[in-house]
Order: sequence, then C-alpha cells, then structure tokens
Amino acid sequence: MYRVYNFSAGPSVLPEAALAKAAEQMLDYEGTGMSVMEMSHRSKDYEEIIFGAEALLRKLMNIPDNYKVLFLQGGASSQFAMVPMNLFVGSKKMDTALTGEWAKKAASEAKRFGTVNIVASSEDKTFSYIPKLDESKFSPDADYFHITSNNTIYGTRYRELPKTAAPIVADMSSMILSEPVDVSRYGVIYAGAQKNMGPAGLTVVIIREDLIGKAPESVPAMFNYKTHADNDSMYNTPPTYAIYICKLVLEWLRDLGGIPAIEQINIDKAQVLYDHLDNSSMFNATVTGRDRSLMNIPFVTGSGELDAKFVKEAKSAGFVNLKGHRSVGGMRASIYNAMPKLGVVKLVEFMKKFETENK
Ligand code: PMP
Repeated sequence: MYRVYNFSAGPSVLPEAALAKAAEQMLDYEGTGMSVMEMSHRSKDYEEIIFGAEALLRKLMNIPDNYKVLFLQGGASSQFAMVPMNLFVGSKKMDTALTGEWAKKAASEAKRFGTVNIVASSEDKTFSYIPKLDESKFSPDADYFHITSNNTIYGTRYRELPKTAAPIVADMSSMILSEPVDVSRYGVIYAGAQKNMGPAGLTVVIIREDLIGKAPESVPAMFNYKTHADNDSMYNTPPTYAIYICKLVLEWLRDLGGIPAIEQINIDKAQVLYDHLDNSSMFNATVTGRDRSLMNIPFVTGSGELDAKFVKEAKSAGFVNLKGHRSVGGMRASIYNAMPKLGVVKLVEFMKKFETENK
C-alpha cells in the first residue's frame, strides 16, 4: 500500500488506526450486516455511535455539563453567520480581532446582522503575528467577542484570551483537540471537522446553554441552535458517516493518552520543523516568536522559483500538499494531530538534502 506524508491544510491526514477500523467495518458494522452509511440515524446502532462520539468528546475536552455539543453541517463558514443569527440578541455588536482570512470572513458575515467592532488587526504585516488586544477598545455592551484561535493560512495562534465580559466565541477549526482548552472560558466553540476531528461534512459546535433559545423568530429552524440542541443533533439527518469517523478519531486520541499527550507530541513535532527553519540558510519561517502555530507552519525560501522546485521535488519524494496559500506564497506544512512526528523528521531530512543540492 502507498501512503504519503500529507501536509494538507484540510481536509487532512487522519489517524491510520481510524481509517483501518472504518475499512474493516465498511460492509458489516458490528454484525448489523450493513455499512454505517446505510444505517438509519434513528436506529439503536446509530444512536450508540452519535452519543458515543459526544461522550468521548465531552471527556477528552472536559466539557462542563452546562454546555451542549452539536453535530452540524455547513462547515465553519456557516457558523460565521449562525453565531450572529443566534447571539445578536442585545446590542447586536460583535468585537473581534482581524488575524487572517477566516477572521475577516467571520466579521463580514456578522456585519449582515449587526455591528462589528474591530479591536485589533495584524493585516499590516500579512497577519504574521497576533495583535495585542487592548481591552479598553472593547465595546462594554458587545453580544460577543470573536476570535480565530489558530490561523490556518498564516500559521499563528492565540496563547491567551482577553478579559471580556462578553461571551468569547472561538473558531477552533484548525486547533481543536490539539492542546488543552478551558471550555468554561468560552460561550461558543466551533470547528469544521476536516482537520483534527474527521472528514469534511461535519461541523462541531460546543455552546453554553444560556446562549441557546434567544434567537429571533425570523431565524430559520436549521440555523437556530435551539432546534439542534432540543433534538440531540438529529432534527434532520446528521452527517452520519462523518460522525462515525469522528468517533473513531476520538477513540484513537483517547487510546493515545488524550489531549495532554497529543499536546506534548504536537509541541515536539512543531519544534523539529521550527528548529530547522531557524537554522537553515535557505528556508525561513514567516512567523517568529510565541505566536507560532503548532498546527500550520508556513515557510519561504525568498525565491518563487526555488519554492516551486521544492514543492515539486517534495511531492515526488512522498511529501505532498506543501504549497503555501496564495496570500503567503512559499510552503506550508500542516501538521495536525494525525501527522506522526516521523513525517516531520523525514520532511526536515528532505529539506536538508534539497538545500545541499540547490546551494
Ligand atoms: N476557519 C478556519 C480557521 C479554517 O481553517 C477554515 C477552513 N480551512 C474555515 C474556517 C472554513 O471552514 P469550512 O470550510 O468548514 O467552512
């Protein structure tokens, strides 16, 4: 079998153990004589899968009892709109910091429903850092404060949260489950599953109960968190197979030692690449210091031609999807939970070889 080291930003590499289990169960899930894909979401067997996935996620992330876990569709992009549709119930104001394309998109969707107050931005330096948050610039009556916890394109991450009276809403798409998070400090956490949780098609929302049920009547049922909370995410057909794979990924993470264990692996893994980037005379990281992401590491040679040659040769050597986002250029290695440390060690070996050959 041929397996590459896949550095895609999303959909991304999944744990082999989860994929192998899914393959084994593809035609006959635990003696039911059918694939999970063929199963009614109202069946007992499926209920075990969806409730099992929720229980595992609650345990791994230490989710307090006063939070609902929702398994939705529509991607993180739908949450950019669904959050204001449900949370703009007071001043209809959202505070936010612009730290990349996704943060900008979340802001522009919120603008359709109310006022967006930008408290900080790092756009002046191509979003290569996390701007300082000056709490005096926050609106005293904001309905929520929105952050993108990890900026997938630019490779930065927040290390601490501001002190704000408003609920914090976080887009954790590209870092969920990669390091411990104190859920109780957030009003809403949301993530597209296709990086650290499973396949595309599933969007996970973790929401504090008091924020549910206040949306105006005009909000359609499918866009109202209450609809999904009241129906255990089965108001309509949920993305059944994606939730099943998510459960297998969560089991893999549990067996590995949970989030504290994966955090250590992620720190070690990122360090291997950052150390090389800091010492290389050819490759440079585009982010410096403590804002560096553990999940997405953009780097450049300074020459578009050399970047393209590297991406091409890396692909032939089995290191794929290393081309950077067009707004940063160069390369980006996305090293989510399921990327083994060996993949990064081998990538660095390949980079060293490339440097010698292209001096
Ligand atoms: N937020 C972040 C941080 C992302 O990385 C992405 C996708 N790469 C999105 C939002 C958009 O997610 P989706 O495609 O699930 O709508």
